[in-house]
Amino acid sequence: MNIGEVKNKAECPACKAAVEFTLVEIAAESSVTCGGCGASIKLTDKDGGAKKLIKEMNDITSQFPKKITLKF
Ligand SMILES: [Zn+2]
Repeated sequence: MNIGEVKNKAECPACKAAVEFTLVEIAAESSVTCGGCGASIKLTDKDGGAKKLIKEMNDITSQFPKKITLKF
């Protein structure tokens, strides 16, 4: 699983429709388009939280193989 691809939902500030976006999109501070009214919503990574979360998850998953010892 790639944490960065997990879908998040928020309300469109204009029409209250559910807008989906991923952590990667927040980290990149990209804009998403509302499916309800077509408004462009700018995502902001407040305090770099999304970037930090992605990095932490990647660090954890990259350590998995090293921690597994196979015994035959
Ligand atoms: Zn909208």
